[in-house]
Amino acid sequence: MGTKFAPQYANIFMHKFEQDFFTAQDLQPTLYTRYIDDIFFLWTHGKESLKRLHDNINKFHPTIKLTMDYSSESVSFLDTRISIKDGHLSTSLYRKPTDNLTMLHFSSFHPNHVKEAIPYGQALRIHRVCSDEEERDGHLQTLKDALVRTGYDARLIDRQFRRATAKNRIDLLRRLTRDATNRVPFVVQYFPGAEKLRHVLRSLQHVINEDKHLAMAIPTPPLLAFKQPPNLKQTIVRSKLPSFQENSVHDATQPCHGNLCKTCQIIDTDTTITRDDTTHQVHGSYSCDSANVVYLIRCRKGCPRAWYIGETMQTLRQRMNGHRATIAKQEGSLPVGEHFSSHGHSSTDLRVSVLQGGLRDTRQRKIVEQKLIAKFRTHEDGLNRDLGFMSRYTLPHQRTNVICF
Ligand SMILES: [Zn+2]
Ligand SMILES: [Zn+2]
Repeated sequence: MGTKFAPQYANIFMHKFEQDFFTAQDLQPTLYTRYIDDIFFLWTHGKESLKRLHDNINKFHPTIKLTMDYSSESVSFLDTRISIKDGHLSTSLYRKPTDNLTMLHFSSFHPNHVKEAIPYGQALRIHRVCSDEEERDGHLQTLKDALVRTGYDARLIDRQFRRATAKNRIDLLRRLTRDATNRVPFVVQYFPGAEKLRHVLRSLQHVINEDKHLAMAIPTPPLLAFKQPPNLKQTIVRSKLPSFQENSVHDATQPCHGNLCKTCQIIDTDTTITRDDTTHQVHGSYSCDSANVVYLIRCRKGCPRAWYIGETMQTLRQRMNGHRATIAKQEGSLPVGEHFSSHGHSSTDLRVSVLQGGLRDTRQRKIVEQKLIAKFRTHEDGLNRDLGFMSRYTLPHQRTNVICF
């Protein structure tokens, strides 16, 4: 029952199931009702045939298995207890043993009419469900005690109870057909004084009426409707569990353990990269096979200036093979090649980690690369020769004017 259409889907399925099942049976129930997957029926053909019917139901479809609760005196169905008394059916309110009558506290920040509607609505339900007046009054007293404990004024409760019980019970048991209202709703978040908007809407209707198209669309003052502002629960509680990636012990960069992979040996698995008082948290998990990343190269010998930030659309492995090639050729013109081919260094001194991955395209990679170069100052004090793609817009001696966005 996870998705929004699940009840409708269950209803359609059960409807077909019932039709197919009961047309195949000799004996039929006197009355049969169902609410989604809760069923109530009256059976007048004796216990033996009832047990057979139950067996047959559970054999009818591989996934439909119903438990049965039957009695010749009284059973409960939804919020109703149905009993046989003197050959007649009588109904009363049924409350689950776990129901401790928790209701909206009167001091809660809600429109008054909502708080008045609670005793009224609850009393109306009891009045409708209970066929015996004495039982009804007993349930109303229990409700009143609970409402008083929840901060409601006894006079307000009595007033709403009188209103509810004054209704004709036979009318309440009729299926409700709501008059379809075509009034356009005017929806606002509830705030103290919001009810005054009703008068404002009414007094400004003449403005709408002045335009013949508007007057046709909104012929009567809009219906003021309140929506709940985000409450503390919605603000604080996340119903979604963090994904495996977000909260994984495999965060940051891990070796791929591929047979011929040379990058595995130089992978730096730090989840937090720190330089002076700057830190960067690596989110997500990466490996030698990650492509579209911004990466950081540092020197295993701990040379403080040997920080290089780069971006690549290739896999980290391919890019590192490229760096290794420049080191092998001792390409002093390239900063990484220069450092790792300098005295006492070799390509085994490389340490590499992905700083950020999952980047869509070149533009995004370049932007992230530039941000991280600026953040770690690897162009002023490191192996980056420029500010990534921003170098086109800055002259060498202006390098400290970092554009950060
Ligand atoms: Zn690898
Ligand atoms: Zn070094």
